[in-house]
Amino acid sequence: MSAGRFAPSPTATLHLGNLRTALVAWAAARSVGSPFMVRIEDMDAVACRPEHEESALVDLHRLGLDHDGPVLRQSERAEVYSAAIERLVDDGLTYPCYCTRREVLAEAAAAVAAPHGRPPGAYVGTCRTLGAAARAEREAAGRRPSLRLRAGGEVVGYVDRLVGAREGEVDDFIVRRADGTPAYNLAVVVDDAAQGVQEVVRGDDLLDTTPRQILLARLLGLDVPTHLHVPLVLGPDGERLAKRHGSVTLDDQLVLGRTIDDVISMFAVSLGLAISGETLTVDDIAARFDVSRLARRPWTLTVADLPG
Ligand code: GLU
Repeated sequence: MSAGRFAPSPTATLHLGNLRTALVAWAAARSVGSPFMVRIEDMDAVACRPEHEESALVDLHRLGLDHDGPVLRQSERAEVYSAAIERLVDDGLTYPCYCTRREVLAEAAAAVAAPHGRPPGAYVGTCRTLGAAARAEREAAGRRPSLRLRAGGEVVGYVDRLVGAREGEVDDFIVRRADGTPAYNLAVVVDDAAQGVQEVVRGDDLLDTTPRQILLARLLGLDVPTHLHVPLVLGPDGERLAKRHGSVTLDDQLVLGRTIDDVISMFAVSLGLAISGETLTVDDIAARFDVSRLARRPWTLTVADLPG
């Protein structure tokens, strides 16, 4: 049966924005009786910490967002990602790229705009046609290549359940980084398929990368999930919610005197699924979940929401 999912990166304690998105993902799945999966996106060994994984699972539990099946950890799945990368290589769909990050950004800034829109920093294809001699020269200079997908300028359209019709030209994005680790887009696509995820609900900061993931799923012969991108939560200054805004974690809110139910109800009101003053459980939210009622604008917190 089609599943939903929440896939946090344990680089910090989850904040209200992450938890609110988790609630939407959970309610979307449970509202139609679907399984809900959790995946820990911990491939970046430097940035990720076990204590953040632990606190993410505790916070989901405290909110009552239960999940099915085992928690998948990306750090334990290197072989599965390698197999997917091998398949792309065997199909002639990749090439080595020797560009540094700085070069990629400079070339992207200088490139003419694409008619269908490309994500910021999209790769312009510098290494796509490098000959053997040019490759050897770069190898000799000690450059280690990343591996890029030969996307062929494919334009991918899809209909986001909240945002509506979108399309974007897919650039030759990285599938394996120069240090040998699989790239985020590759791991997400492989894992969503492995976990039977058919509806991806996540923050709308990832809207621009969705065409990449759809194309990759197609090339790997995997089912393409539907998408629902939730507007982000902003701090009182209008910037994307972050630690520097103050009391942004669930624990912080409890210290401020709010209860779990208060936080859940606050999320429901901000999402357009409850009216101010209503107290709801997460089950109530799943029961009344309705995409057509979901807020389409970011939720901006006030100073009163985040004292300290
Ligand atoms: N791990 C990503 C994050 O925490 C989310 C990836 C996804 O939902 O596809 O931002």
